[in-house]
Amino acid sequence: MERKKSLEYIERDKNVVSRVSRLSYFPLVIESGKGAKIIDVDGNEYIDFLSSASSLNLGSSHPAVTKAIEEQLHKISQYTSAYTYNAPLIEYAERLCSVYPGGEDARVIFGNCGSDANDAAIKFSRAYTGRNKIITFINGYHGSTYGSLSLTAVTTRMRKKLGALLPGIEHFRFYGSELEDDFVARECTKDLEEAFGTYLPADEVAAVIIEPVQGDAGNVPAHPIFMRKLYDLCKKHGILFISEEVQMGFFRTGKWFSIENYEGIIPDGIIMGKSLGAGLTAGCFMAKKEIAQCLESPAHLFTLGGNHLVCAAGAAAFDVYKSQDFQDELKKKITLIKELCEDLMKKHEDMVMFARGLGLSYGIGLGSKTDGVFAGNDTAAFKILYRCFEKGLIVISLAGNILRIQPPLVITEEELKKGFAIIDQAITEYKAGKIPDSVLDNQKGW
Ligand code: PMP
Repeated sequence: MERKKSLEYIERDKNVVSRVSRLSYFPLVIESGKGAKIIDVDGNEYIDFLSSASSLNLGSSHPAVTKAIEEQLHKISQYTSAYTYNAPLIEYAERLCSVYPGGEDARVIFGNCGSDANDAAIKFSRAYTGRNKIITFINGYHGSTYGSLSLTAVTTRMRKKLGALLPGIEHFRFYGSELEDDFVARECTKDLEEAFGTYLPADEVAAVIIEPVQGDAGNVPAHPIFMRKLYDLCKKHGILFISEEVQMGFFRTGKWFSIENYEGIIPDGIIMGKSLGAGLTAGCFMAKKEIAQCLESPAHLFTLGGNHLVCAAGAAAFDVYKSQDFQDELKKKITLIKELCEDLMKKHEDMVMFARGLGLSYGIGLGSKTDGVFAGNDTAAFKILYRCFEKGLIVISLAGNILRIQPPLVITEEELKKGFAIIDQAITEYKAGKIPDSVLDNQKGW
């Protein structure tokens, strides 16, 4: 593949952009996209297995979204909702509230991204309960603002040199669906209950904030027994149960919200971002009415939050998600991706440790076996994803050795199959020693 223009841009980027906001995988400078196809500035074409970090669930340049944005742009781009009303915001809010799990009477608070939506959840939970502490989980990712970062526990690199974060945030172990039922049933709330009995008064805990499927941890769905017991514990102690849906919302896991994969759990609040804006930037905390109304104006507002343009885009995307056609197509692809993962595991049982996930969100663990025992292999994962890139597939890794498989939900079955065929070839080439160590330099960035 020709990369001349891409490399030139990257050279320029180095001179003016701080490296702090980027993890380096490959020299990809994107020019355009359509559905699950991405084109770089050199004209190379890729299948997208990343969906802009699950923020483009309807793929790039979806016609319905593009049309809504174009029409809105000719009227007005935005006018702050801090002092005025706007129809797209109201129309999008009505749609979002209509799908609140359990049919609860809900209200929305718009912001600009997933991080500030997490901050909102902290603020409203504290204010509503009059309690100070928040429980959240190790390996959870919640964002980069001081509030959301206080919840985040994926790498100390995100926290170093920043001084004090929010007080009162307590991190506990997350129990994934891969664990044995008996073990989970026995252990999963032990630490919490011990904490409640020794140093963490339960009646001082405002909320539990949890990703039902931990995304950046490597796509780990919570074990259903863990979710149930956690939820029951919350109910017992008057603790709010907040579902963090920034990465997994909007049908990424086959439902509006990933928490709906767990029967009978009605969250008190839902944190949204990424695909909420259908390609534009948006965040939202949606909660039961009494929680969302508990602060006094203007305790939480953003000048551009819920602006005309983003809400017009979001509402158009919402109508696509809701359509029967989209739902029928999605079901087929959910079945297909499962089969493709299983085939890959069978074919490479010496390297693929697991393929776990829900809907169109999978984590494929890569490792090496010594004496029949698997250990994660980060180097292999990087080499394989880099070879995928060279072959025209955008896929990155999570937690070092786990391939992040999150294609746009509008990907065609052909593209999905082709993407998996590329992964298969890349693994085969890795095993044959055909991927040089030099590709590892790309991790260092430019
Ligand atoms: N929560 C989760 C689960 C996420 O995956 C992310 C982004 N990776 C965020 C919050 C933060 O979203 P943003 O970067 O848009 O603020």
